[in-house]
Amino acid sequence: MPYDYDDQNIFAKILRGEIPNDMVMETEHTIAFNDIGPKAPIHVLVLPKGSYVNHDHFHAEATDAEILDFARVTARIIADKGLAPGSGGDGYRVIGNAGIDGLQEVPHYHLHILGGRNLGAMVPSA
Ligand code: AMP
Repeated sequence: MPYDYDDQNIFAKILRGEIPNDMVMETEHTIAFNDIGPKAPIHVLVLPKGSYVNHDHFHAEATDAEILDFARVTARIIADKGLAPGSGGDGYRVIGNAGIDGLQEVPHYHLHILGGRNLGAMVPSA
């Protein structure tokens, strides 16, 4: 089985209400909360509520409604935080880590929205 979801991961526990979170937005299919260890003045995590491990799993197997909701929530948070360049914001970075090379810590799909300062190089040079 290519995608083996561990329902004991910390975000699964947050989604079940077993661990608190600093909520930013919640919809039918999506939840967003502030990262507990922010790497920038704005550091929000956006998660689908469904049990997906990473970006490729989510986009291969989620319903259209889940994918659309997730994308819209991400855009709404970027707008709400004043980050969108088209609306006078200074920009942002969206990151989705996956697997060993991506150094994914929590095996429940999530995007990081980072902003509020110049974020520097996208990745360190090899
Ligand atoms: P990743 O390496 O992409 O899996 O990132 C996992 C992120 O989850 C890290 O930035 C952590 O700081 C963050 N994190 C871990 N536990 C929590 C928590 N309980 N609440 C909010 N963020 C968390």
